[in-house]
Amino acid sequence: MKQGKLFVISGASGVGKSTVLQHVMAARKDLTFSVSATTRPPRPNEVDCVHYYFITKEAFQEMIAQDAFLEYDNHNANYYGTPIAQLEEKMRSGHVMLDIEPVGAKNVRQKRPDATLIFIMPPSMEELERRLRGRGDTSEEQIAIRLERAKWEMEQRYWYDHVVVNDVPETCAEAILKIIAQAANE
Ligand code: 5GP
Repeated sequence: MKQGKLFVISGASGVGKSTVLQHVMAARKDLTFSVSATTRPPRPNEVDCVHYYFITKEAFQEMIAQDAFLEYDNHNANYYGTPIAQLEEKMRSGHVMLDIEPVGAKNVRQKRPDATLIFIMPPSMEELERRLRGRGDTSEEQIAIRLERAKWEMEQRYWYDHVVVNDVPETCAEAILKIIAQAANE
């Protein structure tokens, strides 16, 4: 297969990205996830090398020094980055989706102008807060930080290629699948 397409998806923490993306991935067997590296500790149910590569700050900084990231950012008091080697490997056999925040998305746009950038909005700020609390694994302090960050992230949606609203995950996934099919010239 020829080189796959690169897709970037952003949306505030708690917007329901993972559920939407599960629907998208189930429908597109030719699409894989890029696994990011992070210095944040795993949440319950998160598996190393599947959800993230959970690494130390020292290891992350070593990778920065080796120019091993397509992009990286430091937010919510932790580093997050896209390891370039695994991304290129995955793109040799299909399309790849990056789940990253707007600072990283902007860096991807610069380095890979052909990437398709999609922003997921919550139906409202109130609903976002309700979903964040509903997770039950995030402290009050973290919820406050993430809501502040969410406001800033949502202001960034204007320079994305597409904006979709996650009211019903299946409907949101359908909208993303259409965008993917269009970008893949199907
Ligand atoms: P969480 O800690 O909830 O898993 O993710 C927090 C934020 O980090 C999310 O907005 C997510 O999209 C972003 N993120 C995850 N991986 C990366 C990455 O490799 N690079 C950047 N820039 N952001 C990332």
